[in-house]
Amino acid sequence: MDMKKQTKKIVWERSKYQMFESFANELQEFTKNGTVPAHADQDAQYCLELQQKRLKEKNLELEYVITPRGLFAEGGGIHKTWSDDRYASRMEYRTCRLERTFCRGGKPVFRESRNMIFYQTMTEAWDSQAVSEDLYACPNCGAIRPIGVLQKGCPYCGTHFEMSDLFPRVTSFYFIEDFGKTQKELKRSIWKTLIPVMLLAMVCFTCFFYQDPEVGGQWLPSILRGFFAGILGGAVFGYPIWAFRQLGAMVKNAGKAVPMLMNTAGSGKRFVTKMQKYSPEFSYEYFSGKVVSLLKMVLFSKDAQSLPIYAGGPSDDRFADLVDSSYTGAAALKNFRVHNGQCEVTVDVYLENIYAKEKRVFSKDEKIRVHLRRDVSRPLDLRFSVKQIRCRQCGGSFDAVKQRNCPHCGSEYQLSGEDWEIVGIEG
Ligand SMILES: [Zn+2]
Ligand SMILES: [Zn+2]
Repeated sequence: MDMKKQTKKIVWERSKYQMFESFANELQEFTKNGTVPAHADQDAQYCLELQQKRLKEKNLELEYVITPRGLFAEGGGIHKTWSDDRYASRMEYRTCRLERTFCRGGKPVFRESRNMIFYQTMTEAWDSQAVSEDLYACPNCGAIRPIGVLQKGCPYCGTHFEMSDLFPRVTSFYFIEDFGKTQKELKRSIWKTLIPVMLLAMVCFTCFFYQDPEVGGQWLPSILRGFFAGILGGAVFGYPIWAFRQLGAMVKNAGKAVPMLMNTAGSGKRFVTKMQKYSPEFSYEYFSGKVVSLLKMVLFSKDAQSLPIYAGGPSDDRFADLVDSSYTGAAALKNFRVHNGQCEVTVDVYLENIYAKEKRVFSKDEKIRVHLRRDVSRPLDLRFSVKQIRCRQCGGSFDAVKQRNCPHCGSEYQLSGEDWEIVGIEG
């Protein structure tokens, strides 16, 4: 093979200007040593912390190893963007290999390695003036203060922040399986089939020639003839075997995807058109990212009813054993209606979930029906966070996940339409 043609190894480096790569590194580190990704926003961090707690309860350690590969290892493709009056979001993706290992007491109990498309949604502020009144949790001490105040110096810890220390932030992320192969991967997969077939053919042909009266039981000429016949025969038989296996894999993957496509076909477009009547900045990428993050929060929470974004019944016991959850990229709109200024939506979200039951760790494809609600008379806030709440009674700020009641005036916090909330989940 021509060595010059081989592409250099791509490495995702951490840098101030490479949000995507920085976050990918932080996510790996988080699974190794528990350092919360600094480039993730408060709610995304909280979601990771909830999952980490669940893993600890189950006596498991989960490690992610993310290796760039494939057609979009260095980015590219079209990035979707959307915005409200103060914030702009952008969805970026790269192709990579994701290796997930679950360990118990340092011993691997479940491992999965797959080619993935890694999606990240990043949210940025339009300009510092417009958002100076908005709340932000001090990245150093966690105190919740307006952005303008944090820029002058946090009143609690004294740290000054530049706008670039606060934005952009990763507000949601997920991995979707990548069935595409690069030329190099395709070649490697051909050789992986051809070489064993050729070796087998060489042995068979050698034995055949050895018995042939013309060669008459001599090893060397039999091996020589067998060698060339094996290469030829291996290629002739091996290639159809490889092609057949590729076809089998394609049918298998398509079989997996068909029920989802049937459900989702057109649902994204239909939903977005309807929703945009109520909030013009609405997009499918925004909504699916939101649903996935909210759902993960609820599924990993020990007591979902304590979450401000959840207004449903007590948590389903079934999800108490959930240790990792991946969105497959398919979500189907089942129901949509606007009633008294409240928008009610039912979506089926397709997930690949990993459960830990007693000693067993296993993966399961699941469809979860989620009922959501939002007050559409209020404008959409792209950076709404349950970790940064302003009390409607007294204006005080607090973390609504840590406490339901305002620490300043004691009134109970109710999300009631400030953002999407989950009102029910069906397994
Ligand atoms: Zn501070
Ligand atoms: Zn209050």
